[in-house]
Amino acid sequence: MEQLAVLGVTGSIGRQTLAVARQLELGVSAIGARRPSNELLEIAKAYPDSKVAVASVDERDRGDFAAAVGSERVSFGPEALTEIAAEPGQIVMNSIVGVAGLPVTLAAARAGNRIALANKESMVAAGSLVREAVSQGGGNLIPVDSEHSAIFQCLVGEPSPAKIMLTASGGPFRGLKREDLAGVTPEQALRHPNWDMGKRISIDSATLANKALEVLEAAALFQLEYDQVEVIVHPESVVHSMVVFADGSIKAQLGPADMRLPIAYALTYPHRFPGIIPEFAFVGTAFHFEPPDLETFPALALGFAAGRAGGTSPAVFNAADEVAVDAFLSGQLDFLGIADVISQTLEKTESQQIRSIDDVMRADTEARRIARSFIRNRLR
Ligand code: MG
Repeated sequence: MEQLAVLGVTGSIGRQTLAVARQLELGVSAIGARRPSNELLEIAKAYPDSKVAVASVDERDRGDFAAAVGSERVSFGPEALTEIAAEPGQIVMNSIVGVAGLPVTLAAARAGNRIALANKESMVAAGSLVREAVSQGGGNLIPVDSEHSAIFQCLVGEPSPAKIMLTASGGPFRGLKREDLAGVTPEQALRHPNWDMGKRISIDSATLANKALEVLEAAALFQLEYDQVEVIVHPESVVHSMVVFADGSIKAQLGPADMRLPIAYALTYPHRFPGIIPEFAFVGTAFHFEPPDLETFPALALGFAAGRAGGTSPAVFNAADEVAVDAFLSGQLDFLGIADVISQTLEKTESQQIRSIDDVMRADTEARRIARSFIRNRLR
């Protein structure tokens, strides 16, 4: 049976992937994370036959970590994760956060592996490169993001859709207005009503930058124009997204807000296994839908604008948002400043055509520099 490599194993999706793999009795050949940690050590001990990759590590910590894990199975350095991803004949779960996950996606794709993609930045920043690498390698890529998994599931056996509708919970500040959000703290923004997620994605859900990234990801994954992508707020998070066909028929994928389902589907597609999530109870459930509030949450409109600009603009959007979210979490930027930083950074950069990963990385570095300087000026 195929083996599974889980890269980004210490995060929320990584840990849930290990749980799903246990349910599916799927062997874990390798695990990886960007930094060494007690959690990584614990997981390494629980999977004694797996290889362990750590991307960045202090020289001083290397020896201690290697000794604790077992030096013969651990590898360090920026290439450690991509080397694991490049080994053929395995499923690669890429749940690394941020654009750092892109080289992993490309390496897994070139090797012809199945990629369970939970790193949305790969498609956002370099969708055309990823698609090219997947078709060259002859493997496949199954999205793990709940919305994209929903659309993927709706499209199995179907022609390309007239339109897709990405659902959004609206985040913890749904219904509030701009003036209510000026003094919001990281603690308030981290409290998501329906999903239990990592820090960056939780803040991104509060600003709707996450939905903007999902719009960019969906357009790249399913090769759609931006006029074919609609966002609709659905506070219950039961309808995970919808697809509208040329004849007007609509398909939706529904279920409890539980990431184990899209994870399992990505690992086992086209098969489905029982017992992954609890049964959904329809009786007593009401569904609501409303338009997104673009005035209060301008990041969503900025995402569409970056997508329409094309080229490196989506990568710039992502980089500026990563920097802004870090600054917000460390108290250097106010909540409303996050969208301002994205907007200013997009304004100050010109969209370039993407020919290689270097074009993406250059745009990413430049966008981070501009975003940081904007944050410094705002502090004064
Ligand atoms: Mg999502």
